[in-house]
Amino acid sequence: MQDKKFYPVYEPLIGEKEAEYASKAVKSGWISSIGEYIEEFERRFADFIGTKYAVSVSNGTVGLHLALAALGIGPGDEVLVPDLTFVATANAVKYTGATPIFVDIDPKTWCMDPEDLKKKITPNSKAVIPVHLYGYPANMDEILNIAQKENLYVIEDCAEAHGAEISNRKVGSFGNCGVFSFYGNKIITTGEGGMITTNDEELFIRLKFLKDHGMSKEKRYWHPEIGFNYRMTNIQAAIGLAQMERKEYIIEKKRKIFNWYKNYLEEFGINVSYSLNPEDDEKTKSKNVFWMVSIVLWDFDETKRNKLIELLKVVGVDSRPFFYPISEFPMYHGKPVCKVSKHVSERGLNLPSSPILEENDVKAICKSFITAVQKI
Ligand SMILES: *Cc1c(COP(=O)(O)O)cnc(C)c1O
Repeated sequence: MQDKKFYPVYEPLIGEKEAEYASKAVKSGWISSIGEYIEEFERRFADFIGTKYAVSVSNGTVGLHLALAALGIGPGDEVLVPDLTFVATANAVKYTGATPIFVDIDPKTWCMDPEDLKKKITPNSKAVIPVHLYGYPANMDEILNIAQKENLYVIEDCAEAHGAEISNRKVGSFGNCGVFSFYGNKIITTGEGGMITTNDEELFIRLKFLKDHGMSKEKRYWHPEIGFNYRMTNIQAAIGLAQMERKEYIIEKKRKIFNWYKNYLEEFGINVSYSLNPEDDEKTKSKNVFWMVSIVLWDFDETKRNKLIELLKVVGVDSRPFFYPISEFPMYHGKPVCKVSKHVSERGLNLPSSPILEENDVKAICKSFITAVQKI
């Protein structure tokens, strides 16, 4: 046993409430995808995001797939996705038979660059999936403008950005729909789970229909189309409801954690140039929820970044490399096609960001971080 503390990148904040609600769901006998917690969770989540509807699903990945399928995306279509994101964003496009087209990121926000989006549009473009990476809202103003002009559907990938805002409006309420994840390390969790938010009644009906085997509402066990089983269970929804009671606390805590990092890193001083997550922007009124406190070390390269991760691990600080550009994976282009995404990806790392961290933890992590950086 080490006597020194180990700081994982993430630990969920769950407790008695989650256990109590999950236990109630189990004891009620409603353990599959029918039960009072599901509707309640959907209603509360829609209220939180400020949309008319919310549809629960079994995870964020199938949420993206379901949204694309419900909008009629399929073979021959192109869907624009940022090159720097979690692989599920692009895979979901592939599941429909459509082709993901990789758009570069803005080096300041790490989110989709609207200028590059314009360049990548073709007559086959049908939809765009902006990702609010690491908790910061993508530039929705410009992306929505472009989408409207080019007649593209907009699916927001909000898997990392529950509660993030632009002009006092929550992400997930800007596009045709927003897709959230409740995986164990996301801002709120149901173990596995996801949610699609929308104001579009027709889309809402279509999402409900397709997620439940495409069964006719009028005629039971009549299936006019190939649907899916993408339902969430009542037990997951029970845990989700308990998490809803903590969401303000968690989001505020994450903003605090970021500020502790920022202050201690400044106070202790790093001898290389770096950027932390983009902060709240006065002009666009964008509010970050800092899913992962992240740092890009501009003077480093991939080898140095990886060495830093190793040195940190030795002193009990877990960290992760940024996502790889998706274009680089063998099933896509097999080589990076977006310069900024590649550059930022090689130099970025995510630091311990769990909402259970306290100021002293962050201070200790910052000390270890700076010592490690100086060794490279
Ligand atoms: C986590 C994540 C997903 C997938 O969500 P799951 O619930 O794990 O399937 C999709 N997109 C992004 C950006 C994510 O971070």
